[in-house]
Amino acid sequence: MTTEREGIAILPSYLRDQWWVPGAAAGPGGADPSPGADPVAVRDASTGETVTWLSTRGIDLEGVLDHARTVGQRSLGELTFHQRAVLLKQFALALTERKHELYDLSARAGATQRDSLSDVDGGIGVLFTYSSKGRRELPNGQVYLDGPVEPLSKDGSFLGRHVYTRLPGVAVQINAFNFPMWGALEKFAPAFLAGVPTVVKPASPSAYVAEAWVRILVETGLLPAGSLQLVSGAVPGLFDHLGLGDLVAFTGSAATAERLRAQAAPGVRFTTETDSINASVLGPDAVPGTPEFDAYVKQLMVELTTKAGQKCTAIRRAIVPEAAVEPLVEALRTKIAERVVIGDPRAETVTMGPLVSLAQREEVLQAVGRLQAAGGRVLVGTTDAPDITRADGSTGPAPDGAFVSPIVLGFDGAADALPDAVHDVEAFGPVASILAYRSVDEAADLVGRGGGSLVTSVATADPAVAATLLARTAAYNGRLLFLDRDDARTSTGHGAPVPHLVHGGPGRAGGGEELGGIRAVLHHMQRTAVQGSPAMLTALTGVWHQGAASRSDRHPFRKSLAELEIGDQIASPSRLVTLDDIETFARFTGDLFYAHMDEDAAAANPFFPGRVAHGYLLVSWAAGLFVDPDPGPVLANYGLENLRFVTPVSPGDEIRVVLTAKQITPRETDEYGEVRWDAVILNQRDEIVATYDVLTLVAKTVEEADATAAATAPPVSAEVGA
Ligand code: NAP
Repeated sequence: MTTEREGIAILPSYLRDQWWVPGAAAGPGGADPSPGADPVAVRDASTGETVTWLSTRGIDLEGVLDHARTVGQRSLGELTFHQRAVLLKQFALALTERKHELYDLSARAGATQRDSLSDVDGGIGVLFTYSSKGRRELPNGQVYLDGPVEPLSKDGSFLGRHVYTRLPGVAVQINAFNFPMWGALEKFAPAFLAGVPTVVKPASPSAYVAEAWVRILVETGLLPAGSLQLVSGAVPGLFDHLGLGDLVAFTGSAATAERLRAQAAPGVRFTTETDSINASVLGPDAVPGTPEFDAYVKQLMVELTTKAGQKCTAIRRAIVPEAAVEPLVEALRTKIAERVVIGDPRAETVTMGPLVSLAQREEVLQAVGRLQAAGGRVLVGTTDAPDITRADGSTGPAPDGAFVSPIVLGFDGAADALPDAVHDVEAFGPVASILAYRSVDEAADLVGRGGGSLVTSVATADPAVAATLLARTAAYNGRLLFLDRDDARTSTGHGAPVPHLVHGGPGRAGGGEELGGIRAVLHHMQRTAVQGSPAMLTALTGVWHQGAASRSDRHPFRKSLAELEIGDQIASPSRLVTLDDIETFARFTGDLFYAHMDEDAAAANPFFPGRVAHGYLLVSWAAGLFVDPDPGPVLANYGLENLRFVTPVSPGDEIRVVLTAKQITPRETDEYGEVRWDAVILNQRDEIVATYDVLTLVAKTVEEADATAAATAPPVSAEVGA
């Protein structure tokens, strides 16, 4: 048996819905006890003690992938977007409850409390965000519609539409060591919401943190079978078993990405988030003494020290006006001296932990050596091993800990003569270079020389500077952050991707795109153009299309969600439009716009034949025409969407409205749901006057409507009735 080494357990993998370690002969991941296997030790970043061992000797990766594609696809396929979204929230709550365990483990990988805030809480936050976005922005079904209907025949009997359906394979997520939770959950959440099963392969140095969050999710008992598997350790031959319909989302170094990309079969969706020599520009207006200068210094200090600089988004190049170099260095030195206490994160006073491993420390110091060889001078900090604060509060050297001081390098010479190394060498630790510029254009050139970055920030209060840098550098960046006195306090920061916005960058940054709200869910789905009749598109999408069958048996406002079906319709009688009505409405609302009140001026307008009815009058009348006034299952009208006025209405015209149930979205967690109604106002010549969607909240059952009416007030912004 190889289930432990030196009395310390081998870190289990979670495969085929069971925990597995090598040597668990009857286990699901394989049956090779492999007595000769050589597990790899994972060590505490501060003390060098062994935390766990990693080995996947004998793992059956083909079986793991097959389990995801069969069992995982099936169980996730039984759920709608909203049901998956509700589960994400439950996972987030379970992780929140056991956060302290994750913080304790993260400290072993070098994370301070503040670092864990971005990794642990940040990861949980991604789950909450995707849960909420999934329920607000996706239908409670399995097909996502992209863009409007395209009429493809004159009589409306042939339509086209783009739809997204989930990929049929498995999402393999290979993660970097620095964010074992956030980095994994920001991929897992969109994949899960899309309905694609995940296999997580964490980086070795912090794999035990990933094992912990997976264990917490498993222990909720809520994970659909096969929806999440974890491989703790190496994955040899993994790519031999991937094909069309599978995805790989890789985060790590550009060198590993290149190697793996070459192994991926055609058809595998392979996205990478790799290293990035991010820039932060101090605007020429942000001179010392301005709030922008202060915000810049603070941000640079935070980016240097958070996660000990092991952040893909950290600032590697501080691009500043020549005159600002000295004051910046001085301000940074002061700030670091005041705020930075290097040491074991388990000591309360420590504000910056070690790098993840001694190997990582070696790599960072080598990269600093390359920058020095290219002309870099250390302006702040030192490459010598620092004295540190130990867990017990004592201070002194720590030969077994991976500690490095914050290091800031400076380079002499003109911007266009700076060595390539400042734009190429990623020292993945608390290291940044200061580069001087003479003009905003020169600053933009320097940003671009990074070859594509995840993020650039700009501290300026001058919109002209910001506009130049947007135009010149946006194409080189996945994200741009403009920092000024108004947002300095509330900014989420240069280095913090947020789930609502795209994370990824062009070129060297990997060319990938993650997060960005529902965009990330769609990355796990295939967009397909679907053509067919209105009835067929209605059946396939669950959304009523003009031209499909409709029913007018009973007023649809008398039907609860249990009874209502898409296609349920009310066609109203007509109503005459008089000049008197128009004038009354104008006086009542104060909308005396000439097109309604002045015949000559209205007729001179290119769009109107003379005085016309207010569009809002028509919409109000339409509500009066289609509404059923008595209390019933319709609880509230919460908005209109896509309102277009098409044909003007003159006094003497008649209007009528046709209202059809278009989309029904029961809420998973409430006793009501949303109904989107297709509304069309027509005139006496059957010309379309206006089109829009009416949005209502409708009770799931009639009894619930009564109970809801008795127990709850409608939302503040909702207008009761229709
Ligand atoms: P890495 O050495 O490239 O490793 C990344 C991941 O690839 C790890 O999980 C690693 O597993 C795995 N891996 C290595 N060889 C593999 C193989 N043959 N097959 C399958 N997986 C393999 O990078 P790292 O040192 O963990 O992370 C640091 C780098 O990541 C930095 O360059 C940083 O800029 C970049 N990063 C980028 C982002 C971003 O979003 N752009 C975020 C974080 C980090 P093992 O650990 O087991 O070898």
